[in-house]
Amino acid sequence: MTTATITTRSTSDERLNAEVLLWQSQVRYGVALFVIMLSALLQFRGVLPRAAVSPIVLYGSYAIAIALLCEVIKRTQKASPPIVLATIGADVLVLFFGASVLAPPEDNERVLIIAFMVIHAAEFNFGRRYALVALFASAVGYVALTHAAIADGFPLEWSQELWSVALFSIVAGGFIFHYGSFHLRLSRIVALFDRAEEGDFSAAYEVAEDKRPDGITALGRSYNRLRAQLATMVLTDPLSGCLNRRGLEGELKREIARSVRDKTELALVTLDIDNFKRVNDCFGHLAGDQVIREIGALLLAEARRMDVVSRVGGDEFAVLLPGTGAPGAVQLANRIRASVARRSFEGITIPITVSIGVVADIAADANVAQALHARADEALYSAKGAGRDRVSVWSPGTRGATGLELL
Ligand code: GH3
Ligand code: MG
Repeated sequence: MTTATITTRSTSDERLNAEVLLWQSQVRYGVALFVIMLSALLQFRGVLPRAAVSPIVLYGSYAIAIALLCEVIKRTQKASPPIVLATIGADVLVLFFGASVLAPPEDNERVLIIAFMVIHAAEFNFGRRYALVALFASAVGYVALTHAAIADGFPLEWSQELWSVALFSIVAGGFIFHYGSFHLRLSRIVALFDRAEEGDFSAAYEVAEDKRPDGITALGRSYNRLRAQLATMVLTDPLSGCLNRRGLEGELKREIARSVRDKTELALVTLDIDNFKRVNDCFGHLAGDQVIREIGALLLAEARRMDVVSRVGGDEFAVLLPGTGAPGAVQLANRIRASVARRSFEGITIPITVSIGVVADIAADANVAQALHARADEALYSAKGAGRDRVSVWSPGTRGATGLELL
């Protein structure tokens, strides 16, 4: 996986975490409100045990802390790992601190059941690392709770309490281990769909890595089955059988990266059918479609296997030639031009010709796609301006040159 993919993935993870924390904040406010109202009632009836901190103050502070964290999330539109950790920390803290002020020490063990819920939520929503943090914090919280009770003179047995916390840690740890890769594998599927959204179907779900297949494995398998069909639907032009613009852009990005890395040349050939409107006007749209289809097939036949042939507009095609310099690209362009000019298209009695623009260079960085397109188009316009049915190669003097830098 590239650094860029990892960055994108962690950014989209942080966005998803933001969404989760925002909806969960309603639950957290609800719990805080419930405890505050219950405490107020118990206080009113005089049955609330005396404590160093009032539960109303404790849960009020908790709600304020959650509100502040939510404010940060709303402003940044993401929840970075420290924000998630702070929220889980606040949950565990308020749980054990709250227990110390609300419940008698003999009820301490019950708090571990609620801690298990916190661990489950961390695991399900944020993944294994966060669940382990919640588990560790809960174990520490329980020991602190026991220590406070014993210091207050309550007859608790350290051996019994440690056994409880050990048992809790074993069960929760087992749960995390069993459930642990769920979040990671789910986010791998999300990453595959993220890439598919950008027209990148190159990666498949690694089914073999799932030693214990489950619903996520089934989802991965269906993605793999659909991958080829999705790629065809999203990246191919149904009329000509060539790639469409989205397909070209994906390949261009990959080939530019390769050109930058290996310092190899890269050529882009842009081709537009001359006076194509006349074909439609004189012979009808269906005959026009047939010409597009045949030119697509001709390009696919003329190009090498590693070349990328695409239809980028109505009567406009582009061929990307990896590892090819200007002489090679011009040779192919001339071959295509001559091949179209001598071909007879069924039912079309006027000559069909194409104008072609060529640009070739070594890409200096990953952002040259736009410059390559602009230069190939300039060369194409220059071929049209010079009378059509010809090949023009971009050079700094090409008519209308934009000055976009490749090198
Ligand atoms: P030029 O030599 O300057 O390129 O002239 P042109 O007539 O080819 O002009 P232009 O490239 O602007 O015209 C493209 C035409 O292609 C316009 C549109 O009617 C036609 N066209 C676009 N998409 C399709 C298609 O899918 N099928 C058919 N039959 N025609 C299409
Ligand atoms: Mg045209």
